[in-house]
Amino acid sequence: MKLSPHFTLDELTRSGTAKARGIDNTPPPEFLPRLILVAEMLERIRTTLDSPVIVTSGYRCNILNLTIGGATSSDHTQGHAADIVSPAFGTPAQVAAKLAPLVSVLGIGQLILEGIKGKAWVHVSTHAPEKAINRILTITDSGITPGIVVA
Ligand SMILES: [Zn+2]
Repeated sequence: MKLSPHFTLDELTRSGTAKARGIDNTPPPEFLPRLILVAEMLERIRTTLDSPVIVTSGYRCNILNLTIGGATSSDHTQGHAADIVSPAFGTPAQVAAKLAPLVSVLGIGQLILEGIKGKAWVHVSTHAPEKAINRILTITDSGITPGIVVA
């Protein structure tokens, strides 16, 4: 099922962990409009990067989120967020640095450059955090820093 020209429901819900553990990661129907908003945000990001965007994690049901160690209040469980990479554009740090000045224009509520245990990706959410300082963050093994910090 297509949510937008370049993104499908399958891309925004598939999970290797869910498959391996037999977890049903089907979102409740009322989350579909939220996932469409995420897909539309991803289209704007794709256009900005002028490169394909790969979703590494989108919607996560609570059981899946717990299984992978996601934050309990994660926007992923509410159908607001996606983790993305765009190798054709550059590294996750380069993607985040490109998007950071454009969050308002692109309708990105929260942008996080995450680099944990040797893996890196960009978290984008349609949902803005309560505190403005948390809108753009870099999270690494050593902690959380406001803004996009390219090591
Ligand atoms: Zn995320």
